[in-house]
Amino acid sequence: MFDYHVPADLLRDRVILITGANRGIGAALAKGCAALGAQVILHGRDVAALDQVRDEILAAGGQPAETLVLDLEQADVAAYAAVAQRLSQRFGRLDGLVHNAGLLGPRVSLEETPASALAQVLNVNVQAGFALTQALLPLLKASSDASVIFTSSSVGRKGRAGWGAYSVSKFATEGLMQVWAEELADAGIRVNSVNPGGTRTAMRAAAYPEEDPVRVPLPEAILPVYLYLLGPAGQGTTGQALNAQ
Ligand code: NDP
Repeated sequence: MFDYHVPADLLRDRVILITGANRGIGAALAKGCAALGAQVILHGRDVAALDQVRDEILAAGGQPAETLVLDLEQADVAAYAAVAQRLSQRFGRLDGLVHNAGLLGPRVSLEETPASALAQVLNVNVQAGFALTQALLPLLKASSDASVIFTSSSVGRKGRAGWGAYSVSKFATEGLMQVWAEELADAGIRVNSVNPGGTRTAMRAAAYPEEDPVRVPLPEAILPVYLYLLGPAGQGTTGQALNAQ
């Protein structure tokens, strides 16, 4: 695991938006950030699941989370602008933006990948991360210590047969991260990517149906690298491709 001792209250009053926060790694990270004092914005498209995460945060004594419902497959420029306007009015700044939502797509060879599936996976895994970051730039610039995290994968760093659209989308995610990192360095905004590594979620089970899930770490176990990047210890780290485990 990434070696970082997480101090109590690390994220006190930091405003952090996490996409795909209704389940899996995103939900665990949202609860983890809230437990460290953050004001969390939970993005997803499953309202009931988002409400449940919000309730769990409240029950654990965290600040009341905002929920943000948006289907990243359908969202257009106007939808992203509306998100920015809402968060601008509500918070006036954004200290953390974690692009965690992702789509596995068909686990088949490129030869068998329908063009429409490639477009769909690129839309959710790449285009949404670009458009949301672009729309939220004024809010990130208004923070004194903003951190943006893109979610990669081992197949975003080395191509692998049978991972088709997903692998291509994660390579593009790394490219997006690197370009944003250079372009936003002067604004003091750090931009990095995290490869969670095999983590016990629905996506992992879909990708490895034959695997015994008990052997795979829970999402709660892989949080230190995210927390490192979101907190002040991450200052000066930018353009890096990091591993959670
Ligand atoms: P899950 O499948 O458990 O969660 C994926 C999340 O993305 C869900 O919240 C899902 O929402 C959301 N999402 C997908 N499509 C859309 C959409 N169109 N609009 C809005 N939200 C959407 O996956 P994980 O928690 O495992 O994965 C989180 C990230 O980590 C992903 O980027 C994944 O690629 C990456 N990753 C995961 C690994 C693992 O072993 N688990 C390994 C390497 C990388 P909904 O519930 O509505 O579908």
